[in-house]
Amino acid sequence: MTRSLPLLLTMVAVPALAQRTLPAPLPPIDPAVEDMRDAALKDDVAYDIVEGLTTEVGPRLAGTEAEARARTWAVAKLKALGFKNVRAEPYQMPVWVRGAETAEIVSPFPQKLYLTALGNSGATPAEGLTAPVAVFKDFNALLAAPDSAVKDRIVYVGNAMEPTQDGSGYGANGAARFVGPALAARKGAAAMVIRSIGTDHHRIPHAGLTNFPDGVTPIPAAALSVPDAEQIERMADRGKPITLHLTLTPRQIGTRESGNIIAEVPGTDPKAGIVLIGGHLDSWDLGTGAIDDASGVAITAAAAKRLLDSGKRPRRTIRVVWWGSEEVGGFGGRDYAARHGKERHVVAAESDFGADRVWRFETNLPESAKAVGDRLQVALSPLGITRGTGTAGDGSDIGPIVALGVAGVDLNQSGLRYFDTHHTPDDTLDRIDPEQLRQNVAAWTAMLGVVANAPEDIGPVTPRK
Ligand SMILES: [Zn+2]
Repeated sequence: MTRSLPLLLTMVAVPALAQRTLPAPLPPIDPAVEDMRDAALKDDVAYDIVEGLTTEVGPRLAGTEAEARARTWAVAKLKALGFKNVRAEPYQMPVWVRGAETAEIVSPFPQKLYLTALGNSGATPAEGLTAPVAVFKDFNALLAAPDSAVKDRIVYVGNAMEPTQDGSGYGANGAARFVGPALAARKGAAAMVIRSIGTDHHRIPHAGLTNFPDGVTPIPAAALSVPDAEQIERMADRGKPITLHLTLTPRQIGTRESGNIIAEVPGTDPKAGIVLIGGHLDSWDLGTGAIDDASGVAITAAAAKRLLDSGKRPRRTIRVVWWGSEEVGGFGGRDYAARHGKERHVVAAESDFGADRVWRFETNLPESAKAVGDRLQVALSPLGITRGTGTAGDGSDIGPIVALGVAGVDLNQSGLRYFDTHHTPDDTLDRIDPEQLRQNVAAWTAMLGVVANAPEDIGPVTPRK
């Protein structure tokens, strides 16, 4: 095969090339960046952080005592790693906590179902409520339904989520969870259960936030495991009315303290602006938050530590933020922007999509810093990362800073496994593949090596819509 290659090139490639314009050559990059990137493929710092946080703190729901322990753990860890200006920035937020959660089919085929309350869910009476079930195959079917088909019923909404590399199934199917319960409440529903927004077939439900706007009284709302959702759909297919007994007793416990954790690698040129990176420290309460998002805080800190330990200070300050309370409404990202929005940030990037390999990067750099994007392509390509054509700025924690006109860089991780365990009791350390985690650290190290040292001015950008 190898020997026939020159012949092939003569016959096919050369005539084809002759008719086309060659792309401009990509710029060389600093060999020190390549060395740091390649050394990061042997990184153990990120795994050590994920292992430590998930073992020594475990689940850390925002605003609870567990999240406060996570902040204490985080400050000690980041100081021990040698970061500068390590501190917690507390703020106040409303806190919702889980209570009892059970469900049984009363008729036509009595049996127990597995489910979990959605964040912000209302409560049933302590003894539960019993009501007929109105079955909708997806969110659009509920949207189209007359109030009379919903009133005083327990609404069920299905979905057809499939795993995708870019995670796009979440946005397409997530409406049932994000806004479905509020819609059902407006139509007079007694309660709502959804098929979990997930791609597995394990008998564990996927938690997650739902939102009730002001003026809409929260109804009890929960996610069924996928097999239990399919059980309801099979019963509905038999054409018999379904009656469900549902008990959910979560509570809003009032205002509590949450907070962001900040650590820095100080730069040499304060005028060049800050490169902001991080992930979120809080997690849902069912698992230990290994993929969501211990891995994100770990990847970004481990990469920043490689620049910290490189023996050469970066031009720009790298600020690592471990945001609080992302899962329950993004309070940490908003508090950070309110407090620090006037400081000059030039690039923001967030890791909050698990620990599987980075396959694509996207940027939203100003025209003046176009060459930075070209150098990122050179630095990331050996890791199997392609350059996307979309506009960067993804992430709920960097969202409020990006909205102020700060350029984004997205390092997109594979979403093929992510929604198998997202927000479930199975979000645990064993889901982390150490080799893929190291590829992430290498990608972030390369990105920081290019961006934090770029000689170009990186000015403000028009935020994407
Ligand atoms: Zn997350």
